[in-house]
Amino acid sequence: MIGLFGGTFNPVHVGHVRAAIDVRDQLALSEVRMMPANITPHRTQPRVSSRQRAAMLKLAINDIAGLKYEGLELQRKQASYTYDTLMLLRERIDQPIVLLMGADAFSFLPSWYRWKSILKLANIAVLRRPGSRLSLAAFPEDWVQSRLVQQLDSKQGKIIKVPISRTEVSSTDVRARLQAGKSIRYLVPEAVESYIAKHGLYIEN
Ligand code: ATP
Repeated sequence: MIGLFGGTFNPVHVGHVRAAIDVRDQLALSEVRMMPANITPHRTQPRVSSRQRAAMLKLAINDIAGLKYEGLELQRKQASYTYDTLMLLRERIDQPIVLLMGADAFSFLPSWYRWKSILKLANIAVLRRPGSRLSLAAFPEDWVQSRLVQQLDSKQGKIIKVPISRTEVSSTDVRARLQAGKSIRYLVPEAVESYIAKHGLYIEN
């Protein structure tokens, strides 16, 4: 089974990388593909270019076994729905897929395009991210509970909660520190810190 971890990664930080490593290890995945989103339906387009977000992500993971870059959504140059992305990936990959989602992102799943069908194409691993509660308010009653498992032995349709290391960092926090002229050391991988400094990213308003 492979993991698919989508996000804006604007910029990628140690919370993302650590979460991917934790899930890779706990679910014994053959790999986790980290996939930057293009213009997502839920977000405004970040000021830093897609090329730069991708470059930082590659720098963050290039020496980590089993973490791979997936450029599918950026290559499409349009807003991508996770459902469509999974349809495309299923044609290309001969392994079951588990979608990695932070608990915060998972809470909004019922607002996603064809959200129920997403579970027909993949499993979902909910990352228990510190500071964010898993809210099931938007789901039909028992919808999540009835799909929860302790171990992933199905190819799709199941939800598993995966506890991950506490890394209290967000991209918002990293951007805010940079704008305020503060250090981001240890919040992002060293190579990402250097890239941001070299290109003067996230400084201007
Ligand atoms: P922003 O602060 O701009 O909202 P973010 O830090 O939440 O960004 P995203 O790229 O939006 O990062 O997140 C991609 C995925 O990574 C989401 O599913 C999110 O829940 C998860 N994630 C982000 N930060 C962490 C963290 N510190 N620990 C675990 N998961 C995280």
